[in-house]
Amino acid sequence: MCGIFGIYNHRDAANLTYLGLHALQHRGQESAGISCTDGEIMRTHREMGLVSDIFDARVLSQLPGRSAIGHVRYSTAGSSTIGNAQPLMVEYSRGYLAMAHNGNLTNAKIVKDELQNYGSIFQSSSDTEVLIHLMALAHEDSTVKRLISALRRMEGSYSIVALTNHELVAVRDPHGFRPLCLGKMRDGYAISSENCAFDLIGARYVREIEPGEILVVDQNGLTSYKPFKETTHHHCIFEFIYFARPDSHMFGKTVYSVRKALGRQLARESAVEADMVIPIPDSGISAAIGYSQQTGVPFEMGLIRNHYVGRTFIEPRDSIRHFGVKLKLNALRDIVKGKRIVVIDDSIVRATTGRKIIKMLRQYGAKEIHFRVSSPATMYPCFYGIDTPSRSQLIAASHTLEEINRYMGSDSLHYLTIESMRKALGKGDYTYCDACFSGSYPSRFPWGMELEQMELFAKGEK
Ligand code: AMP
Repeated sequence: MCGIFGIYNHRDAANLTYLGLHALQHRGQESAGISCTDGEIMRTHREMGLVSDIFDARVLSQLPGRSAIGHVRYSTAGSSTIGNAQPLMVEYSRGYLAMAHNGNLTNAKIVKDELQNYGSIFQSSSDTEVLIHLMALAHEDSTVKRLISALRRMEGSYSIVALTNHELVAVRDPHGFRPLCLGKMRDGYAISSENCAFDLIGARYVREIEPGEILVVDQNGLTSYKPFKETTHHHCIFEFIYFARPDSHMFGKTVYSVRKALGRQLARESAVEADMVIPIPDSGISAAIGYSQQTGVPFEMGLIRNHYVGRTFIEPRDSIRHFGVKLKLNALRDIVKGKRIVVIDDSIVRATTGRKIIKMLRQYGAKEIHFRVSSPATMYPCFYGIDTPSRSQLIAASHTLEEINRYMGSDSLHYLTIESMRKALGKGDYTYCDACFSGSYPSRFPWGMELEQMELFAKGEK
């Protein structure tokens, strides 16, 4: 997962991009970067860490210009190093080009091998660099035509912002896996993964970049291209369940309302006698409100989160993640003692978070703990940008409900069913990718690989 942002024609382009990235920080905390152009020279600053640690007034003052793009990274493909931080910026035959990408190009390794055989030299393990090489090798005479020809070679998911000295380009793949939207400021435009960033910088939300659309913003205004074959839309359902901020809206719906609807649906199929409903903050809050409203069981903040430790799951190293649960959350003893509690979280991956929280609640005297998950069991890997790369890391892929319940130490456990999830999202126009739950992948894997082969391939073992 990553967050991307762009500004066209504003005298504070770098500052606004900094603010935009700040609003998108939840989408990635490993590294951040901004590229900015004054029409002649493009400059980039990238570092590992959080947006507010990387950029200060001095760094931003060294990024002059009226157009900029930015990126916050959470690695799904490519390792967590500064070389893979984005935007990637190059100077090639057509001048400067910077690119920031959210998504995962599933055939990047195959194309990269081909390019390397012809002599291309890569500086990172990021799949985005493959696109830049393809653009540099293309013969077309405009950035947008080169981008189209490069993207025709690629499979997988991509929402992209690209910057040249004279244009800002926004692209979304034909399935529309990842979100991307357009905002308007006085004389300029903004592009963002989520519209919560527009609220911060005072931009007016205009619309989503459509699946398969390439939108060019330059001195002539907006030009939209639809060069790819139309296909069914497959918006990532996990954006609604976990990734996006509740105050964003995407794919035509408000994230908060969807999460509440999932919580209501969960209550309809798994309600239990209890004294209180408590969310695992922050990801379980909206669904727990829905659950509480549906059942009438009071909502309590039984767990308090320390907001100054970052989102520890996002740290890729296991040692830190496990340590992180204790750093992040504490239970309210007086509230939970002697009570029958429904604990709501948005999802279970390895079940380590839930297990530790249940242990803590028991230590603090909770009488009964019923764990409820506002999404179905995560059983399949995602190859489109969510960090669930292999079934070996997903507890539900190899354990029964009863085994997981026992492992977590809860009195009962219930996941939302796939049918209920689909119902909560509106049956009629269900346009989502829910492969992580259903195993039903929206497109064939490269080379026609089977799931097992694709898992190895994605891990770099094939
Ligand atoms: P686990 O302890 O491995 O079961 O992790 C579950 C927690 O991680 C839940 O509270 C989710 O909110 C969160 N989570 C689920 N999927 C992801 C993901 N792909 N990246 C980061 N956090 C996630």
